[in-house]
Amino acid sequence: MLVKFAKILVSKFDVKIEGNEYRMNCPMCGDTKKHFSFNVEKGISNCFRCGYRPNAVVFLVEQFGFSLDEAKDIVSNIGFSKTKTIEESLKIDLPDGFVGIKEMNSVYKDYVLSWLGERGVSEEEAEELRLGVVLNGEGDWKGRLIIPCWEEGKLVYFIGRALFRQEPRYLYPPFPKKGVVWGYDNLKKEDGEVCICEGWLDAHKVSGIAVLGQQMSKMQWEKIREEVRRVGKVSIILDKDALSAAVKMADAILSWGCKEVIEIYELEGCKDPGECLNRDEVREKSMVWKYNNFRERVKLKLKTQGGKNGFRTIEERLRGSSKNDPSNRVLATVKFNELNQDFASKRPV
Ligand SMILES: [Zn+2]
Repeated sequence: MLVKFAKILVSKFDVKIEGNEYRMNCPMCGDTKKHFSFNVEKGISNCFRCGYRPNAVVFLVEQFGFSLDEAKDIVSNIGFSKTKTIEESLKIDLPDGFVGIKEMNSVYKDYVLSWLGERGVSEEEAEELRLGVVLNGEGDWKGRLIIPCWEEGKLVYFIGRALFRQEPRYLYPPFPKKGVVWGYDNLKKEDGEVCICEGWLDAHKVSGIAVLGQQMSKMQWEKIREEVRRVGKVSIILDKDALSAAVKMADAILSWGCKEVIEIYELEGCKDPGECLNRDEVREKSMVWKYNNFRERVKLKLKTQGGKNGFRTIEERLRGSSKNDPSNRVLATVKFNELNQDFASKRPV
């Protein structure tokens, strides 16, 4: 059976499992009655409504945005499980030796709580997030803080953060994290903002979600899409050194059809949101750019793209770095026109 493939399938689609047949709504024809069936043993499929019949590799590329190499890699990873049922083999378990904060004995607990306390996470919050540590056993997970990712109460992923200077600082399980959104359940909180951060601690502080890196995948975007629509706004709050990445993320979101307000936080008074107490403090320490505003968007683009030339604003760029060098002005005008066209094609209607 294609274990990895099956896991990815159930992470995105509402799947009805009948043995090796995974039945779901066809993504191609607007089907609502699960006419599309994927055989995860053979890696073949069929839509009994429209005839869409991708194999597993094609499906990963078309529906999940994986590259061909990534897709082949996932499909070639064939795992057989004789003792486990399919449901069991799909279930993600925390690493062996995991002990939750509540169950921990006092020596470890004091250490872990002081470690968390230094980062502004209280015991109550740690319990709420169901954090824990791998205390027993061998292997890479031992001595790591385990930060689970929950989606509506279901464990979908976890992160292992070194507590004792182990390398690497962050350890991830061997299954795909492309669609994982840490803090998914924060989206349901009624405080009217969707904030995208890099790491779990950042997301925790601002009641946002973490994409676990500086890039957002389309799968992750689709998970938060409805909520962005509902609140009418999305805020990108990456680390201080990641302003360019934030701009790229905003462009990606626009290209995926976002019509809502996009804000980009440029952190000025802190390195990352995790250093702050809450969203208000992050906002106080940031310059907030309105990415839907044409002028602000151009300024931000020039700031991140033209940074190495020392140009910080359109005005400075148009003025040129040297009064005696007219080519700067020409270059700036051309660049400006390019940007203008680029934006005109993407401007929300
Ligand atoms: Zn179909």
